[in-house]
Amino acid sequence: MKVLVINAGSSSLKYQLMDPDTGVVLAKGLCERIGIDGKFTYKPQIEGKETLKAVDVAMPTHSEAIQAVLNALVDPKNGVIGSMKEIDAVGHRVVHGGEAFNKSVRIDDKVMAAIEECVPLAPLHNPANITGIRACEKVMPNVPMVAVFDTAFHQTMPAKAFTYALPYEYYKNDKVRRYGFHGTSHKYVTERAAAMLGKPAAELKIITCHLGNGSSVTAVDGGKSVDTSMGFTPLAGLPMGTRSGDLDAGILQFLMNKYKLSIDEMLNILNKKSGVQGISEVSSDFRDLEEAAKAGNQQAQLALDTFQYGVKKLIGSYAAAMGGVDAIVFTAGVGENDAATRMAVASDLDFMGVKMDAAANNVRGKETVISTADSKVKVLLIPTDEELMIAKDTAALCK
Ligand code: AMP
Repeated sequence: MKVLVINAGSSSLKYQLMDPDTGVVLAKGLCERIGIDGKFTYKPQIEGKETLKAVDVAMPTHSEAIQAVLNALVDPKNGVIGSMKEIDAVGHRVVHGGEAFNKSVRIDDKVMAAIEECVPLAPLHNPANITGIRACEKVMPNVPMVAVFDTAFHQTMPAKAFTYALPYEYYKNDKVRRYGFHGTSHKYVTERAAAMLGKPAAELKIITCHLGNGSSVTAVDGGKSVDTSMGFTPLAGLPMGTRSGDLDAGILQFLMNKYKLSIDEMLNILNKKSGVQGISEVSSDFRDLEEAAKAGNQQAQLALDTFQYGVKKLIGSYAAAMGGVDAIVFTAGVGENDAATRMAVASDLDFMGVKMDAAANNVRGKETVISTADSKVKVLLIPTDEELMIAKDTAALCK
């Protein structure tokens, strides 16, 4: 079986064609500047086939972008399939499924209407995802499609974990609650962790740390998300590359009054100018921060310390919430590559049965155990693969 995985943004579209059973990727790439001046990148994963990098292709809308993807995939010289008929299904990443979706679904008119209803919850993302789905439906009308939601995995959270202490009418009338994001990644690493530990996820308490440009930590009890650090929007929780994470809402009033900021300007600061970038005044990239910190930049060190402390606090609180923890998982750009951050987060946790193995931790991007053999809590490094998870969910619903 071959599944095309689509992650559509407002002016970009990432794609991968893969076999969900083996995880083998046939080709992947990116359409950028859709509606502007169209740049197309195509990376076949088969030897002898040529890569296209940011070449000019007219893409006034997402439909032309999808058509460009299909043309490249079936190209007689550099394509990876003989014809479009070989694409058995399409899996779409959809950011927000609200309370309507607790798992992936086959797309039909009713599902599209429900995704539309979630637009107010994710005004930047869901419209782009919808555009991507519509474009695929236009270009590949008879291919089954599946929506895989970032929020779905977290729909198992109990009310005490997702309820904000606001007047209850805002939940009842406006659905203001914690939703959580990165669900596809948290679900994928949960399944891999269970496989690595040789136990069903149903018997495990796992804390999954998705640490990248955006970061979230999830408490997974018996294979189900029971709490997560992102909230109503992906701005909540940890300090991130440029996002503030949690903060005292009173700060908004103070800064907005003092600097005569509109709410949009304030939110722009919280989303784009805060986080480790804001604290360090150096960079949002952890590689730059580590280099600067090594060279003696104290603000860069403070940014790293603040981030690492935030993750450590979440691990402690989620262990308490679940009444224990069997495994801690690190994933995503920082979690997979940054040994120093993993060490800082998981060191000094001997009291709760976590013993890091410094030598084993000195590794990047490889599925491996990084705690000592006698550590009661296993610490695992698991590279995430959201595309594979989307492809697997899609295949399961289309077989
Ligand atoms: P992601 O959002 O998961 O793609 O993660 C991207 C982030 O991972 C980058 O902004 C970097 O901060 C971080 N990252 C990638 N490679 C490294 C590395 N070798 N060391 C530290 N951080 C890294």
